[in-house]
Amino acid sequence: MDHIVIIGNGISGVTLARHIRKLSDKRITIISAESDYFFSRTALMYVYMGHMKFEHTQPYENWFWKKNRIDLMNGFVEKVDTDSKKLLLKGGSTVSYDKLVIATGSKPNKFGWPGQDLKGVQGLYSKQDLEMLEKNAPNNKVCNRAVIVGGGLIGIEMAEMLRSREIPVTFLVREKSFWNGVLPAGESAMINEHIIEHHIDLQLDTNLEKVIADDNGHAKAVVTDKGETIECNVVGLTAGVAPNIDFLKDSGIEIGRGVKVNRFLETNIKDVYAIGDCAEQHEGIGSRRPIEAVWYTGRMMGETLAQTICGNPKKYNPGHWFNSAKFLDVEYQTYGWVFSERGKKETEQHFHWRHPEEKICITVAFDKDTNQFLGINTFGIRMRHEIFDQWLTENKDIDHVMTYLKDANFDPEFYKLHEDAIVAKYNSDYNKNINPKKKSWKRIFSIA
Ligand SMILES: Cc1cc2nc3c(=O)[nH]c(=O)nc-3n(C[C@H](O)[C@H](O)[C@H](O)COP(=O)(O)OP(=O)(O)OC[C@H]3O[C@@H](n4cnc5c(N)ncnc54)[C@H](O)[C@@H]3O)c2cc1C
Repeated sequence: MDHIVIIGNGISGVTLARHIRKLSDKRITIISAESDYFFSRTALMYVYMGHMKFEHTQPYENWFWKKNRIDLMNGFVEKVDTDSKKLLLKGGSTVSYDKLVIATGSKPNKFGWPGQDLKGVQGLYSKQDLEMLEKNAPNNKVCNRAVIVGGGLIGIEMAEMLRSREIPVTFLVREKSFWNGVLPAGESAMINEHIIEHHIDLQLDTNLEKVIADDNGHAKAVVTDKGETIECNVVGLTAGVAPNIDFLKDSGIEIGRGVKVNRFLETNIKDVYAIGDCAEQHEGIGSRRPIEAVWYTGRMMGETLAQTICGNPKKYNPGHWFNSAKFLDVEYQTYGWVFSERGKKETEQHFHWRHPEEKICITVAFDKDTNQFLGINTFGIRMRHEIFDQWLTENKDIDHVMTYLKDANFDPEFYKLHEDAIVAKYNSDYNKNINPKKKSWKRIFSIA
């Protein structure tokens, strides 16, 4: 019986193991150095904020693994020998495999800042990072101020976490506006305002120069490239992540920024595969990046590779891009492609609507020559994934999207609806006369 060994018990490795078990009787071992059981990394923040206990982030009961004959091993893989098909673990033990899957995720970026390894300086990625934050910043007596470096999704989460314990936070963001490499200007501006309203000291267009130590080797201040010294006890490094693959250096497995894989998620070495955050496509699929450090990508790759490993070779075909996140109180969803001004093609045009008082807005991207709908970003309005997926597949135009926008709304019952206001602005901006159709459950169920 084939022995499938998976390094990494995150969403990608665990999804793969579950699907292999559904499809076959193969022997499966998952090795991880981080935690005994799979947990939801995206929920780590809620543990610190007191909304849940760490156990609640584990989607499966502890008996699940034994019952499904998935062996879990706690250990750190130091070396992979692809000739003898053996892994060397820290401490000296070895594990043999017939097929190996690398699903080792990411690690926080460090850019060689002086003082980046001092006590009190940390990323937010792992269970251990969460435990460290609990020690470094239990309250605002121990941590008088934290400085967060890097304005992305993890940075804003860390700021929200610390603010939940009333710890003053300074947020250094290299860009001139928050996440404006990804978000169009109007949305990015709205999130800037939202951050400031949450009493976070947002410093845009500002870089970290160095972290200064006290006599005990603990961070006591940062210096910015504006020459300002900011006293603090904790420095959060959240300037992006990179594939966690240092241990593969001399393995012969082809490495770029991540582990290079083809559309079947195969590496250059037979019987060795990579999935999730650590996998790098030789070429990005469509407009996607070669590395996608997001939850849904790991899950889709895990499902796909299970088919190949169980004898039904299947290409990774992620379909239309989608993602979701939260900026403090504002929920964000994206379907299809809405590029920021920096990444936008000349033919991509944006229709933007923003609520006059609340932090609610949408941006719809369309082709200015053909009117084809390209994607939508929504902030503070929940939309139905299946509907946008279908409209993108059927190359609907933006007038169709506006006409049937009410079908796409997925807000809870009794929420205030904004589609009439959105379509009115669209009509006024583009001199159109669209009458939004009433929501139809019949149409919705014919898609879902
Ligand atoms: C705070 C935070 C919030 C996030 N929020 C979102 C979100 O809202 N939406 C979204 O789409 N994505 C989000 N992400 C990203 C998402 O969590 C990741 O894309 C996803 O968890 C990656 O899954 P993975 O299975 O590829 O790897 P991981 O979850 O990183 O799992 C890899 C595992 O392998 C282990 N490992 C690594 N090397 C070795 C080794 N040599 N030996 C043994 N074990 C090893 C690691 O310790 C780890 O446990 C967030 C990430 C963080 C950190």
